Amino acid sequence: MKLSQHQQVFVQQTAQLILRANSLGVNLTFGEAYRTLEQQSIYFRDGKSRTMDSYHMKRLAVDFNFFIKGELLYRHPLISLLGNYWESMDPINNWGGHFNHFYDGGHFERSV
Ligand SMILES: [Zn+2]
Repeated sequence: MKLSQHQQVFVQQTAQLILRANSLGVNLTFGEAYRTLEQQSIYFRDGKSRTMDSYHMKRLAVDFNFFIKGELLYRHPLISLLGNYWESMDPINNWGGHFNHFYDGGHFERSV
């Protein structure tokens, strides 16, 4: 599959994720999706990212903010449910809430 095809599948699955979130009463706002090399360098320098090989730079990652009953949250059982849902959609999907060395509950990626 070409990168552009992976990117298109990623967007389709992100749409499904958004609908699932809304059906669970979790409302979303966007954080970052595409990230430039320049922006990634800044995050890496400042310790906000631990890689210079982010899927955001490949248009294969998106960050969301979660609102549950009006409150902005990044850890909640419903958010974990969404992470599991994301990973169930495709074996190459990863949720940042399952990262080994840090929790990034807003992050959803397709690891090509
Ligand atoms: Zn991210």
